[in-house]
Amino acid sequence: MSDTLIDGLYREGEKIADTKAPLDVPLSQCWSQRKFNTPLVNPANRRKIKIIVVGTGLAGGAAAASLGEMGYHVDAFFYQDSARRAHSIAAQGGINAAKNYRNDNDSVYRLFYDTVKGGDYRARETNVYRLAEVSANIIDQCVAQGVPFAREYGGLLDNRSFGGVQVSRTFYARGQTGQQLLIGAYQALERQVKAGTVHEHPRHEMVELIVHDGRARGIVARDMATGELETYTANCVVLATGGYGNVFFLSTNAMGCNGTAAWRAHRKGAYFANPCYTQIHPTCIPQHGDQQSKLTLMSESLRNDGRIWVPKKAEDCKKDPRDIPEEDRDYYLERIYPSFGNLVPRDIASRQAKNMCDEGRGVGPEIDGVARGVYLDFAEAIERMGRDAVSAKYGNLFDMYQRITDDNPYETPMRIYPAVHYTMGGVWVDYDLETTIPGLYMAGECNFSDHGANRLGASALMQGLSDGYWVIPNTVNAYLAQTLAWSDLPQDDPDVVKAREDAQARIDKLMSIDGTRSVDSIHKELGKIMWEYCGMSRNAEGLKRAVQMIRELRKEFWTNVRIPGKAKGEMNQSLERAGRLADFLELGELMCIDALHRNESCGGHFREEYQTEEGEALRDDENYCYVAAWEWTGEGQPPILHKEDLIYNNIELKQRSYK
Ligand SMILES: Cc1cc2nc3c(=O)[nH]c(=O)nc-3n(C[C@H](O)[C@H](O)[C@H](O)COP(=O)(O)OP(=O)(O)OC[C@H]3O[C@@H](n4cnc5c(N)ncnc54)[C@H](O)[C@@H]3O)c2cc1C
Repeated sequence: MSDTLIDGLYREGEKIADTKAPLDVPLSQCWSQRKFNTPLVNPANRRKIKIIVVGTGLAGGAAAASLGEMGYHVDAFFYQDSARRAHSIAAQGGINAAKNYRNDNDSVYRLFYDTVKGGDYRARETNVYRLAEVSANIIDQCVAQGVPFAREYGGLLDNRSFGGVQVSRTFYARGQTGQQLLIGAYQALERQVKAGTVHEHPRHEMVELIVHDGRARGIVARDMATGELETYTANCVVLATGGYGNVFFLSTNAMGCNGTAAWRAHRKGAYFANPCYTQIHPTCIPQHGDQQSKLTLMSESLRNDGRIWVPKKAEDCKKDPRDIPEEDRDYYLERIYPSFGNLVPRDIASRQAKNMCDEGRGVGPEIDGVARGVYLDFAEAIERMGRDAVSAKYGNLFDMYQRITDDNPYETPMRIYPAVHYTMGGVWVDYDLETTIPGLYMAGECNFSDHGANRLGASALMQGLSDGYWVIPNTVNAYLAQTLAWSDLPQDDPDVVKAREDAQARIDKLMSIDGTRSVDSIHKELGKIMWEYCGMSRNAEGLKRAVQMIRELRKEFWTNVRIPGKAKGEMNQSLERAGRLADFLELGELMCIDALHRNESCGGHFREEYQTEEGEALRDDENYCYVAAWEWTGEGQPPILHKEDLIYNNIELKQRSYK
């Protein structure tokens, strides 16, 4: 490790690399080869092996059900009252798969290519290829479970398009794809609960990881109803705990989404990769005031038929949009990107919406003096397809929009604006999805693995189910096969006791502060800092400022937060939120450091200093074609950056163009 403190903020350590993907075979054979080389655990031995799975969204639910079905003994934890309430249920638009049902020249290779290009060449080739390869199996699996995907008149599964691609490969169930897929995974999970292989722990929040002899051996969970801390041990631990977009306070994520499990693992030795890669989704209902705690997504599928525009003249922005004639409208995505039009990737659509509003051509109410909204218009689609066809495709989304805004999108264009939606960064994993702590695996949005610097629409559900149904159940065997001789780690083992005591000490400290500020008021302040300085666009000066502001806010939190109620004997949501915010206050700082160190623009990471003449992201492949994996070194200590070089043997690195 170098002793130099870079920018006064971090040090650089040894490079790292994935060692699990077999690189001596062609890319298309990597996954089969890895599976073939993976040691197996025979069925009689599986029932002696315990696995902890935290999270029952699409990734965790699928993993727990599959591992249970294989005969392992699984303990599944989640903080909701039912496994089927995981945030995945909110997903609207669809799930990608390279089935080529539309005969539009789709293929595994094209899905792989689109995903690497969409991620602005910052993802690992081997992982992405596997994702594309497995995608077709996912659809078959879900259809077999009875997931009611939309069908065409003839009975075949229907497809639509999402951003960043020119084929139709997105399978959907109206605007409720996540819900229907999650019900499929949930049924599979409940079947295993009945069979006795999976034991569910609802309303249990993981607050600490137990590491023994350098390996992940269990978790400390807080029973949210009683406040009691409990410890659970196993042969390995799988975290499938979702994304950390709520670090921004306002996002499209469910209120409960948080980064605690991932951050606790990071503090125990798991490197955190590319934390600054955040996805800002272009089509959300604009913020309407200061008292709001949630933003609502309008699915990207709407960009299949809706047209995005702003008035050409700033003086028209206050007019009723229906009174603005065609010639005075600027369909700016169709104008700037004629090839992809309204279906450019999310990072590009979001930045252009911001540019239009910054130019003074935004519409709707002003927030901090600027109208932050653009139109998403269905008038042409209604004329072309008829109102009934539009309603059949998007009806529930239109109803949702009308309930929230009181505007009828069949009659007047929707108003939309970008909002924080997804985090491409996450815990670093190798090809097996194993972290830098042996025996700790991460699945779904909480790992960094597949989307590079920008995720394409409908690819998160694909990744969650790929990780859960296919990757984890195959790769954990390699690790578990070495653990057959292990005995259970006893509850009084010093590492188990220490992890529980640490978790208790943290809760005691939080409860003893007894200050004057609510958890939410501090969280909102953090969100504003993150949005202002580490949001849709960033610059070095702002990021340095943000690091200082977050440090001060963290001090304020640990000296002046007020948590009413008790830690035990009752539910205490303020305490739950405080624990999550404490972790966000550390993660937010790392996001800013990561964004500051990456002196280039790529995907969702747009540094104002690095742009092309046309205002597009300007990558620096010579110096930044790597995954930034950060190591925790202690509270208040500078983190260490480990670089994993990204090697492109199959795809040529190019300036991304959707024109
Ligand atoms: C509004 C919206 C719409 C979307 N639409 C689409 C779409 O159409 N297509 C697409 O591909 N993607 C979509 N996405 C993204 C996608 O929904 C998510 O990326 C994906 O569902 C994440 O799944 P997951 O299994 O990784 O995590 P989640 O579904 O977030 O599940 C996390 C699980 O972890 C548990 N958990 C977390 N922390 C703890 C802890 N400390 N202790 C115990 N349990 C814990 C939770 O209880 C939960 O069970 C959308 C996202 C949003 C916000």
